[in-house]
Amino acid sequence: MKSVRKCFGDNVVLRDVDLTVEPGQCVVLIGASGSGKSTLLRCVNLLEVVDDGVITFDGRDITDPRVDGDDVRSRMGMVFQAYNLFPHLDVIGNVTLALRLVHDVPADEARARGLAMLERVGLAEKAKARPDDLSGGQQQRVAIARALVANPRLMLLDEVTSALDPELVGEVLDLLTELKGEGVTMLLNTHEMGFARDVADRVCFLHDGHIHEQGSPEQVLGDPQQERTRTFLSRIR
Ligand code: ADP
Ligand code: MG
Repeated sequence: MKSVRKCFGDNVVLRDVDLTVEPGQCVVLIGASGSGKSTLLRCVNLLEVVDDGVITFDGRDITDPRVDGDDVRSRMGMVFQAYNLFPHLDVIGNVTLALRLVHDVPADEARARGLAMLERVGLAEKAKARPDDLSGGQQQRVAIARALVANPRLMLLDEVTSALDPELVGEVLDLLTELKGEGVTMLLNTHEMGFARDVADRVCFLHDGHIHEQGSPEQVLGDPQQERTRTFLSRIR
């Protein structure tokens, strides 16, 4: 992202945002509620149209109006706080839907890839279950499997543990840690500072839509240079 700006009416929600995620990196956004974290992720996924600046993905300017948004989104995986699984489909149906409908993968192959992905997130035995019969942590792992199954170049994760009961947060963070170890590229926002410290390659502190400070977790979380970063961290600890 280079000089990205996004407004909703008079409200400037992102300003002068410069951000790079290299292949294999995990970049973590932190910041107060309303600082623009979700909007930033939605701009990358072209769910929002930026007002100014450039977003380059896989070597291509995706803010160019001629770009096919569905094609870009098909190469990214996005996971939300509220899992958003399809309640009328079983787990394997959720995981394979986009493979079949968006990527034109034949049903047999989609099923095989879906089952392998469920194995990878530790839920192979739940393939035939309905989302409602799973715990929140299991549902979120299914949502992550669904986003990963088409081998996206980038995973976008918007507060994926915030809706979970505290005892279920760990299983989802453990999965993200494993994915990082496997080289999955991730841009995410979270309030889990322990996770950010252990897994992030870079931490970016957003304040009023601007990246106020970014650097290694040791630097931003351990020795923040900006007063606002220190204030934010002292409030959440
Ligand atoms: P965060 O995820 O850091 O809590 P958001 O990106 O959700 O922050 O919101 C940043 C700002 O943008 C807030 O002031 C919010 O009210 C505003 N905003 C977000 N989405 C919309 C929208 N669709 N329409 C108008 N304002 C919005
Ligand atoms: Mg948000």
